[in-house]
Amino acid sequence: MFTNNLGYPRIGSNRELKKACENYWAGNTTQQELLHTAQQLRLQNLNLQKEAGIDLIPSNDFSLYDQVLDLSLTLGAIPKRYNALGTDSLTDLYFAMARGYQQNGLDVTAMEMTKWFDTNYHYIVPEFYKDQEFTFFSKKITNEFLEAKANGIITKPVIIGPVSYLLLGKEKEAGFERIDLINKLLPVYLEIITELVANGAQWIQFDEPFLALDLTDKDKAAFTHVYNEIKNAFPNLKVLLATYFEGLRDNTQLAVSLPVCALHLDLVRCPEQLDDVLAIVPEGLSLSLGVVDGRNIWKNDFTASLKIIDRVARKIGKSRIIISPSCSLLHSPCDLGLETNEATLSAEIKQWMAFARQKINEVVVLKQLANSDNITNAANSLKENITANAARKTSALIHNTAVKNRVAAITEDDAKRNSPYSIRKNIQALALQLPLYPTTTIGSFPQTAEVRSWRAQLKKGSITQSHYEELVKKETEETIRFQESIGMDVLVHGEFERNDMVEYFGEQLQGFAFTKNGWVQSYGSRCVKPPVIYGNVSRPKGMTVQWSAYAQSLTNKIVKGMLTGPVTILQWSFVRNDQPRSTTCTEIALAIRDEVSDLETAGIRVIQIDEPAIREGLPLRKNQWREYLDWAVKAFRISASSVSDATQIHTHMCYSEFNDIIQDIANMDADVITIECSRSQMELLDAFADFKYPNQIGPGVYDIHSPRVPSKNEMVALMDKAALVIPQEQLWVNPDCGLKTRHWPETKEALTQMVAAAKDLRAKQ
Ligand code: GLN
Ligand code: ZN
Repeated sequence: MFTNNLGYPRIGSNRELKKACENYWAGNTTQQELLHTAQQLRLQNLNLQKEAGIDLIPSNDFSLYDQVLDLSLTLGAIPKRYNALGTDSLTDLYFAMARGYQQNGLDVTAMEMTKWFDTNYHYIVPEFYKDQEFTFFSKKITNEFLEAKANGIITKPVIIGPVSYLLLGKEKEAGFERIDLINKLLPVYLEIITELVANGAQWIQFDEPFLALDLTDKDKAAFTHVYNEIKNAFPNLKVLLATYFEGLRDNTQLAVSLPVCALHLDLVRCPEQLDDVLAIVPEGLSLSLGVVDGRNIWKNDFTASLKIIDRVARKIGKSRIIISPSCSLLHSPCDLGLETNEATLSAEIKQWMAFARQKINEVVVLKQLANSDNITNAANSLKENITANAARKTSALIHNTAVKNRVAAITEDDAKRNSPYSIRKNIQALALQLPLYPTTTIGSFPQTAEVRSWRAQLKKGSITQSHYEELVKKETEETIRFQESIGMDVLVHGEFERNDMVEYFGEQLQGFAFTKNGWVQSYGSRCVKPPVIYGNVSRPKGMTVQWSAYAQSLTNKIVKGMLTGPVTILQWSFVRNDQPRSTTCTEIALAIRDEVSDLETAGIRVIQIDEPAIREGLPLRKNQWREYLDWAVKAFRISASSVSDATQIHTHMCYSEFNDIIQDIANMDADVITIECSRSQMELLDAFADFKYPNQIGPGVYDIHSPRVPSKNEMVALMDKAALVIPQEQLWVNPDCGLKTRHWPETKEALTQMVAAAKDLRAKQ
């Protein structure tokens, strides 16, 4: 039996890599210093895994920015626009591909970035062209193998497999299919393997997550072709083929027929696949059992994992078993040992958790238990594990009967507004008296360094709560006055009191805990620190009412209340794994519903419930979409449906395509939806137009990601374009998203132009 790891987090327990990269980009340190920090991190991670007792330790899992971009550089898949940069420094070329380059008279855009399957990690999308060539260009994979070898560790290099690499990319011109590039790509993979083997590699891990997704016949044929060729060329190489984030399902036969040494299964995400695999596993194929959750922060249930291991051992024997985390630990925070703040993460909750470092140990202990090695130590670990998990099951912290009863008592009516939109529309028109092309914003106004410093001071205790609130109130008042002065129709309070759109709510909800250092890489040097939902969620008291009511008290104009929706709160947290996600989402929905009711009672007549993460929650396999969308849309409706017909509910979504979920967006039945649209030149609206979407829509008219101030005429032109496909009575005028990352000068200028654009549009009637 072997222990194995698929990948270790590279950011460092104290985000050393983030700091090193950002310092280098800012010109504060040399490249040598950056590369030195990177090497230190790699060696630390290697040694830590070796000392823990991992047999198959990964290399090439490290990355300065992103592992897919690393591979593009390895394969020489460098778009031509970077030619001007030269190849004197591969590191600078690499960062230019990741982040764009604007220096020395050059102006080259970055490569596109997109989400890595259903995680919150983002990768740099490979660009493929008709005449695409590949070469073994960067030697990172060899260098990192040799570095580890010099350090006394023969690693298992990790590389994204050729089929998944092609499928992860994008055709940048018409006239070819990227999967057809496989014949040009395979020889370069063979070259890479040759070099690794020549240097002493025995195992290589090929990540092929697409093998667990929906595949075309062509994709399937490519898998068979590639792995047979590799087998022919290297009969003695031990190939570990890794799938994760889903189950093999209809690809089981294909997967077990590939001539590889070991197949890795994500048994956390899809435990059901084990039976299918065991039924047809061929003689000689080892199975890597991904039993330790690489995507969440809960302690493993040793008893359950040992049952799985035992079941497999009976079928194929212990020697063909590899014990692993479910996927790369890239998606876990680094080290629970650093969590020492009892106030936000109590010892009771902490004992139920495990981060990457602890998960590595879990893998090792599972092997000891299954193999009866190191008996005393393993038995103690098992006892401790059983106690902790039993304590979690029965803890009073987790069980809130009132919440459970409330969830059980939900009726269809709770998820329905009193009247259909066709009736609400007229009631709201009378109540709100808005002009044609009403103007609004998405919620946040600039979170200046000053605003953030107030929160930091409050945390440190250098200002009092009431002083802090005075400062935030003043900022809110100025923002209200600014919006009045330019003639905005529906105002917002500016969200100055919020650190983050999920954390702010999590901190006030029961059932949430927070880590101090539980950072996970999101993209490049950007990390996120998701809250931990450990128990039944409830809302002890108002979370936003005082701020919205205060803002409304300052003006006769309508002030919009601003909330984050249940699906987005769920999606951007670590979620408890002892009840279905849909149940947790429904609990959050009820908490938001209470807030919506309280806002209405406090005189707030328009309430926005943001759901930017609805789309990213979609399951990876299409046939599971229906189930997810049903509960996700229902959760939104539960949160939104307690109000009277006269209260207008908005929702907001960004970075979304809507074509294939437009019916579900319509089922959310928000009176108004605002979407990101400007960067697609209103193309995202087509889905709404084709569907004849009945409710109101605000297609974003300017890109908030850039400091550029759009002209009035530009925005008029975009709205005219929108009005060609959506009746103008249904249209709102607003930016793409919140303004928190912008500065005040451009914000003021852009919104002034935007309101002027709306006035022009009205005057044209
Ligand atoms: N109301 C939030 C804001 O304006 C919405 C942010 C988002 O959609 N990501 O900041
Ligand atoms: Zn947004």
